[in-house]
Amino acid sequence: MKGIVLKSAGKLYDVEYESGITRCVLKGNFKIKGIRSTNPVAVGDYVEFEFQNNSETGLITKIHERKNFILRKSTNLSKQTHIIAANIDFAVLMITIVKPITYTQFIDRYLAACEASRIKALLVFNKIDILNEEQSRKANALISIYQKAGYTCFSMSVKETINIDEFRAYIEGKAIVISGYSGVGKSSLINLLLSSKNLKVSEISNSHEQGKHTTTFTEMHKAGTGYIIDTPGIKGFGTVGIDKENLGDCFPELRLLKNECRYSNCTHTHEPDCAVKRALEAGEIDPGRYNNYLSILFDDATKYRQDNYE
Ligand code: GDP
Ligand code: ZN
Repeated sequence: MKGIVLKSAGKLYDVEYESGITRCVLKGNFKIKGIRSTNPVAVGDYVEFEFQNNSETGLITKIHERKNFILRKSTNLSKQTHIIAANIDFAVLMITIVKPITYTQFIDRYLAACEASRIKALLVFNKIDILNEEQSRKANALISIYQKAGYTCFSMSVKETINIDEFRAYIEGKAIVISGYSGVGKSSLINLLLSSKNLKVSEISNSHEQGKHTTTFTEMHKAGTGYIIDTPGIKGFGTVGIDKENLGDCFPELRLLKNECRYSNCTHTHEPDCAVKRALEAGEIDPGRYNNYLSILFDDATKYRQDNYE
């Protein structure tokens, strides 16, 4: 029988299939080629399983090929990785202009990580209800930069339920993961999308305007015909899977121009006759995006490991 893994707890998996949800265990020792992972089966995996001897527990016999997945390193030292979730349709990055400020370095790094993992990213600008004129202009300017780069953007207020319906329609039937700094409104949005469930929403603490962490393990919730992957954190997501030689391919607007550069392995930095630099000078590429590209290209990765994002 075919099912989808909704939750994993130790060696036990909750698998949804045509007749409901059943508990499953893994058969033998699964190895997935190319990945040294601490968990062979992840939330979002499509699996084959069978019931044995009238047992209520299923036995997972096969894992279907993943279209994509999110990894995190188990520790900084080990090469082992942990698969947070698989088969994600949209990685939704929730951004706020205030309370808290989301920095573009973080946004661009996250987007590049999604490109490297072949996950389509969506940008959601939340808390538009509290923006003053200048902050609204800033939000709109960012939205136009990211739309121009090729990303789908939404602006909304989860609190005042503004523009929620069009977002809900867009993600209908899809498996999504919602990321962003602590306090941007992720739990509030998930609550709204899963009207029946009640995730705990934390109050913003006075000290640094950041909400407290309330999720402790990864789980996939059914929302309409789709799924929301609720994860305690994808800290380090940005540090796994980005190969600097291919970094330009992780910025869609640079990727589109690379065939026009003189050298096929152009890094768009010092090379002559570079189409990206021409586009930059012509104002066709956002200088902020380009700078963040450079900072990922040149910066020490350890700097980003300290990024404490969810
Ligand atoms: P998380 O840490 O990203 O899960 O954020 P929460 O969902 O816990 O929200 C953090 C705080 O922001 C809570 O006090 C929410 O009520 C508040 N919040 C969430 N969405 C909005 C919004 O659209 N507008 C405003 N003004 N506050 C919001
Ligand atoms: Zn170039």
